[in-house]
Amino acid sequence: MDAARRCGLVLDSRTLRREEVEASCPFCGDHGPGKYHLSLNTLTDQYRCNLCGVRGNSVSLFARVKGISNKEAYLELAKEGKVYPMPTQPAPKTQERQPLALEARHQMYSEMLDYLTLLPKHRENLLERGLSEARIEQNQYRSMPETDRGRRLLASLLRAGGHDLLGLPGFRTYYGEWTLSGPNGFLIPVRDKNGLIQGLKIRLDQEEQPERKYRWLSSRNMPGGTRSYSWVHITGDTSSKRAFLTEGPLKGMWPVFWRATPSSSVSAASTPWAA
Ligand SMILES: [Zn+2]
Repeated sequence: MDAARRCGLVLDSRTLRREEVEASCPFCGDHGPGKYHLSLNTLTDQYRCNLCGVRGNSVSLFARVKGISNKEAYLELAKEGKVYPMPTQPAPKTQERQPLALEARHQMYSEMLDYLTLLPKHRENLLERGLSEARIEQNQYRSMPETDRGRRLLASLLRAGGHDLLGLPGFRTYYGEWTLSGPNGFLIPVRDKNGLIQGLKIRLDQEEQPERKYRWLSSRNMPGGTRSYSWVHITGDTSSKRAFLTEGPLKGMWPVFWRATPSSSVSAASTPWAA
């Protein structure tokens, strides 16, 4: 703790009496201020950041923060130093571009879906799952544009409509030109409780591994690109006292089914998708 204080770390006061004290990580900045990802174990004299993975002991922590060698750090710490710098909140180091605000995302994704159609093969797939034509229409499933030209055209239509695509997950630049990124498949709008589109999931056409069959529309780590988050899809009667948690957004899209089933007899085990 002495070394941590001499490093000027911001400590979570609620954890000060614990064996493991939490601090803001000076190396990654916790990807945002006010968090404490750095654990300082006062018994083993080890530190570790749960976010960026840096680890070591009090000597290497001090060395790393001050930018000096371990030997210099050891000699410095061995001196009876009573100089504790003012703890300073680290600045986020990897300032990743964040998605636009919900309303903007909803507006742009809605407009994007208006430009797209649902290919017959994708409609078939949805009908086979038991969704009605009306429900498919209402939920606004769409097919990803399958050609580069179609994707660039989509981006230019949105831009012509006055939208800046910077910050919209899925869009990126390719040699300076905006386009949509992602595998072919059909898009599933993932909405909040008010029906606003938070993000889009893609149900991939070609994917052997079942756990990779659904992916978020994202352009993380691409030029001009933006990451997505794992948003929770909410549908059905939000005033109901009973809520059901399903595994994916597509499986939660059958409020008609829920209403048609006497609620007292519904159990996870009796539903066809529970597995
Ligand atoms: Zn860190």
